[in-house]
Amino acid sequence: MARFTLPRDIYYGKGTMEALKTIKGQRAIIVVGGGSMKRFGFLDKAVRYLREAGMEVSLFENVEPDPSVETVMRGAKAMLDFQPDWIVAMGGGSPIDAAKAMWAFYEYPETKFEDLITPFNFPELRKKAKFIAIPSTSGTATEVTAFSVITDYEKGIKYPLADFNITPDIAIVDTELAQTMPKTLTAHTGMDALTHAVEAYVSTLNSPFTDPLALKAIEMVFDRLPASYNGDTAAREQMHYAQCLAGMAFSNALLGIVHSMAHKTGAAFSTGHIPHGCANAIYLPYVIKFNAKDPTALSRYAYIARFAGIEGGTEEELVNNLCEKIDAMNVSLNIPKTLKEFGINENEFKQKVSKISELAIGDACTGSNPRAINAQQMEKLLTCVYYGEKVDF
Ligand code: FE
Repeated sequence: MARFTLPRDIYYGKGTMEALKTIKGQRAIIVVGGGSMKRFGFLDKAVRYLREAGMEVSLFENVEPDPSVETVMRGAKAMLDFQPDWIVAMGGGSPIDAAKAMWAFYEYPETKFEDLITPFNFPELRKKAKFIAIPSTSGTATEVTAFSVITDYEKGIKYPLADFNITPDIAIVDTELAQTMPKTLTAHTGMDALTHAVEAYVSTLNSPFTDPLALKAIEMVFDRLPASYNGDTAAREQMHYAQCLAGMAFSNALLGIVHSMAHKTGAAFSTGHIPHGCANAIYLPYVIKFNAKDPTALSRYAYIARFAGIEGGTEEELVNNLCEKIDAMNVSLNIPKTLKEFGINENEFKQKVSKISELAIGDACTGSNPRAINAQQMEKLLTCVYYGEKVDF
């Protein structure tokens, strides 16, 4: 059964965190990351607003980037002790994603992490608490999505959790928070948003409900990301909205193999993490070329190109020019073109590529990719990405 789910309320604009004053409840726990929300005064503001609303407030701080299963369990324990009826997650994708998983274990302490990995298999939430998300980065759109990414460091795997139960009740897209992003983060998260919109638009689950959101998001990212990267305040605001639109699209249309590859390569190499958005930005043009061998995908990519004002006489030309536009955007954002250029060791890559390819095929995002792919093709594709070779298979 097709379904389209969004938060009940989306507050947007400068200073809209004030919406917290209107929340009705007894106890709120705020889940945050490493300190930037505190440093910029947004954490204090949130506490103040929630107290003004008459609530008792508790904090769960220091959620790390790419949150671990262990952090999720500690957070759930803190919630079990405090018994909040509101969970307020603020900051980048990491604290919000972690809080979503904590929420599940708070409501169902007996659940195993393994049970949640199966897509759309969550128990029914909101028996104990509702969820507010306040994003400070302009990319993951986790404030409006049914997803959360949790890392198992022992296995070196990122698990995407998916269920409409974890779509937040309220999203507060306060543009003031996005102004604090450092430059590189702006680039990576912005390209993550572009990838969400492109993958949602060509996904096998695309629909008339998600298409307009995806197309508008793509147009806005192309228009505004370079200026946002260079510190333009108005462009930053628009990017905060664009990524949210992209999120609404992909939460309902799902994604494709750019994300499968990013999930399975992100924590796989000893040289360090590949930031999620950076991985997507590198893989996107290669995947478009692979997928465009499918005639339906080719037409949909061509439609994206035309919508974004890109010229070309044939669909193939339009899609090539779309890839060139993405390449040029990556150059302007200082994002490398290959995994080799990113700094992944060649021997380690060769050693691991076959296993990574198998894992990527099994990723939850592979099922909705517009062109079917097997592990052998995936290995070839990743090898093209490593060396910057042309994709023509
Ligand atoms: Fe993403």
